[in-house]
Amino acid sequence: MSAAREDLVIPAPRLAAVTGGLNHCVRHGEPAVKRVRFALQSRPQVTGNRANLGNVLATAGRVAEHAGAARVTRLTDWPLCRRCARTRGWGLGVASVMFFGGVLAVLAAFGIRATMDGPSLALAPLLLGGFVAVVAAPWPFVLGSIPRIIQARTSTDGGSVLITAAHPAFAAEIRALLG
Ligand SMILES: [Zn+2]
Repeated sequence: MSAAREDLVIPAPRLAAVTGGLNHCVRHGEPAVKRVRFALQSRPQVTGNRANLGNVLATAGRVAEHAGAARVTRLTDWPLCRRCARTRGWGLGVASVMFFGGVLAVLAAFGIRATMDGPSLALAPLLLGGFVAVVAAPWPFVLGSIPRIIQARTSTDGGSVLITAAHPAFAAEIRALLG
């Protein structure tokens, strides 16, 4: 099945206009159980890895390559299937537990330390563990972020949305919507 997956390049305004008509998730091709709103931000001056993206849609080819301020593409009513929604929930949940748990652990370590006469090595695991959890929290957060789940980003100029390895069901749907 993976061979049938496609890379899509879609002009951002056209995509934004039709997301409400999409009923299948881009990653698994399964029915949408949830709709989300999110923003894709362009990253100016990052160049080079666009060559492997096929120009599936006719208007997709001309993507101006100029650096400028980051542009944001807002998409609403984006379909997520049960699996995508679960991944998102997992990522956000783990990230917040790690972050707030880590902060609490560090605060607790300092709090306990303040009540003690001298330094205690016993607090080191609490302090270190809390610190590591806070520092590592962005990792599950990124894994659960919408752009990561749906493998989408914008072109350098922000004018197009690039979707990597779209499921055939999603590709057929978007093609029908764009005409
Ligand atoms: Zn999915």
